[in-house]
Amino acid sequence: MPDFNLHTHTARCRHAVGTDREYAQAALSAGLKVLGFTDHCPFSCLRDVSDRMNPEEREGYLNSIQSLRQEFQGSLRILSGYEFEYFPQCLKELKQRRQETDLMILGQHYDGPGGVDFGVVCSDEAVLRYAELIEEALAQGLVDVLAHPDYFMLGRGDWSEACQQASIRICRALAAWDVPAEINLNGIRYGLRQMTQGKRYAYPWNDFWRIAADFHCRAVFGMDAHAPQQLTLMSERIALVRSFVDLKGLRLVEQWDESLLKKGARR
Ligand SMILES: [Zn+2]
Ligand SMILES: [Zn+2]
Repeated sequence: MPDFNLHTHTARCRHAVGTDREYAQAALSAGLKVLGFTDHCPFSCLRDVSDRMNPEEREGYLNSIQSLRQEFQGSLRILSGYEFEYFPQCLKELKQRRQETDLMILGQHYDGPGGVDFGVVCSDEAVLRYAELIEEALAQGLVDVLAHPDYFMLGRGDWSEACQQASIRICRALAAWDVPAEINLNGIRYGLRQMTQGKRYAYPWNDFWRIAADFHCRAVFGMDAHAPQQLTLMSERIALVRSFVDLKGLRLVEQWDESLLKKGARR
């Protein structure tokens, strides 16, 4: 059981529930030592109703984390951060977001601001674009952890040669920059889906993690909590994930390690 979780949302994204304090409280009850808040990153070009906080909510978000950090000092270490998409035209803004936080996790849901969600429909061509955006974000030094690298499987009905090639590119880049990949524990919420390979969860997807193991990638578990009580489900979810994903060969980090905050642009 890991003693940290770096993927935690707040109600500001409009599809998560609970107060910020309830997340911290739940993390403490779950026995975590480190909790990273990484709500969906705002972008000045986007006004959203169900995906992310709006730019004017950013300050309140950071202030809330700062006051919880003081309140929980000594019992729970609280980090600030965002889960962001890499949009090349927003690079300057993303660098600012990185400056003001402890941690940036890349969750490449969209191909552009207001664009197509890779988790809704993802052709072979799109999966290669997904890999390309991730490679660029890593090269820009923006990424501390790559969230659900196998997210594209949510928009597909099968694992193809393009998926294989995209995954090799992603894992090669992760290994080169020594950025950990997240084994996401909340992809399961979408349930089992009918795929060419049989009934499977979209992610985590075993073929991806076999490639990650070939590259000896570092890996962390992430709860991707959208409700405070989900933080208490981590060990149960890990057991389930281990029943269908082979994690052998990965460099799994389960005990909090400061080096998780020292990669990307901080190297
Ligand atoms: Zn979310
Ligand atoms: Zn995500």
